[in-house]
Amino acid sequence: MPLLCQPPRTIDPDLAYAAAVEERTDNAPASRGGRHKRSVGVHTKFWATGRTLTVAWVDDPLDTEHWQAIQRAILQWQPHINLDLQFIDGREGRPGEGRGDVRITTDSNRNYSLIGTDAKHNDPWTPTMVLGVKPQASDFEATVMHEFGHALGLEHEHQHPEANIPWDLAKLYRHYAKAGHSEQDVNEQVLAKLPKADTRYTAYDPESIMHYPVPNDLTLGDWEVGRNTRLSDRDKALIASIYPRS
Ligand SMILES: [Zn+2]
Repeated sequence: MPLLCQPPRTIDPDLAYAAAVEERTDNAPASRGGRHKRSVGVHTKFWATGRTLTVAWVDDPLDTEHWQAIQRAILQWQPHINLDLQFIDGREGRPGEGRGDVRITTDSNRNYSLIGTDAKHNDPWTPTMVLGVKPQASDFEATVMHEFGHALGLEHEHQHPEANIPWDLAKLYRHYAKAGHSEQDVNEQVLAKLPKADTRYTAYDPESIMHYPVPNDLTLGDWEVGRNTRLSDRDKALIASIYPRS
């Protein structure tokens, strides 16, 4: 199991909603005939289709090989999205300073990303994505693709409303406690089911890059999900439906 990829700062839900709807009106929840109260917390955070999305390296010095490896992993999303990904030098004093929609630091031992448009109201000098994973690590590419999925607005697949993972809760909590994660962290990042309000809701996909691996020894009975290392067919179809080519 990877360390949890929850960003340490929480975004004010009202500001997050405003940023999402300003970017793209269909980020607002669809009306459900008035049977349910609309909730500001339940909305998508996708970027406007067809826009340029700038992705900036912000660490000094710039490690060209490392940056190119990150770009190669991120670019695996490119054929499936109608967004123009542009990679820029976002270091202090460089032309790209403060201009990255997604701002990446590698100076960490953690990996996480803000979800989609949540990045818009971070201040422009704060990274929105942390990629501590090293290029020589076996899970480097999968980790970068997973975190960039968050930057595109995707949430965790293991928290899909139809995911029915038979966790051995005691073992799961113990596993994450060893890495310094509280039961509340595990509840929020592993166990909590996401609301069905996402208009881009598709069937549960255990092969998704957005699914954490589920080791057999943390489940009851014989149940596991391996480490997914590439975009699944449904990842590609889902993201293409979110960012369609007209
Ligand atoms: Zn994640």
